[in-house]
Amino acid sequence: MPIDQPPPTVIACPDCDLLNRLPAEATTVTLLCGRCGAVLARHKPDSIERSLALTLTALILFVVSNSFPFLAMKTGGFVQETTLLTGIRELWKQDMQGLSCLVLLTCVLVPGLQMIGLLYILAPLQWGRRPAAHAARVFRLVQEVAPWGMMEVFMMGILVALVKLGHMATIVPGVSVFSFGGLIFVMAAAFSTLDPPLLWQRLDLRR
Ligand SMILES: [Zn+2]
Repeated sequence: MPIDQPPPTVIACPDCDLLNRLPAEATTVTLLCGRCGAVLARHKPDSIERSLALTLTALILFVVSNSFPFLAMKTGGFVQETTLLTGIRELWKQDMQGLSCLVLLTCVLVPGLQMIGLLYILAPLQWGRRPAAHAARVFRLVQEVAPWGMMEVFMMGILVALVKLGHMATIVPGVSVFSFGGLIFVMAAAFSTLDPPLLWQRLDLRR
C-alpha cells in the first residue's frame, strides 16, 4: 500500500465477528456485514449538528432541573420544598450515605459529564475546526460512563413515591420535575442521533 494513503478502517461485525472493511470516505448508505447481513453502520443525516443542538438543549434542562424546586410537600399549614441537590444532602444527613452518593453519581455527575463531554467533542467538529485535544479519549469516556446514567430509574422512583405519599400529604411537583422528565427524552435523542463510526472517522484525523 502506498505510504500516503490512510489505512483502511476495519470494523468487527457485532453478530458474527467478521472483520469488514469500511469505505475510506463517509457514505450515505447503511453498511451491512458481508457474511451475515447485520447492520454495521447506519447513515444518520446531519448527525453532528442534531446531536449538538440536542445536547445544548439537554444542558439547559439540566441547569433548570438543578436550580428549581423538585417537589413541595404540604402537610397541614407546613410546606417543605426540595431541590434535587438538597434531596441528596438530606439523604446524607439521614445516614443514607451510600444512596446519596449513588443518586449524585447517576443523576447529576454522570449526565453532566456526558453533556459536557459531547459538547467538547461536537462543537469544534460542527464549526469546522480540528477536533479538540484528547477528543477521542473524551468520547470513549462518554461511552463508558453511559451505563451509569440512570435518570429514568430515579424518575420512576419519584413517580412511585408520589403515588405512595399521596394519601399522607399533598405533593406538588415543581418546575424541576418537568424539566428533568424532558431531559431524559432529550438526552436519549442526543445519543440516538449520534453516529459513532462517523465521529471516530472525524476524530481520527487528528491522530
Ligand atoms: Zn456478520
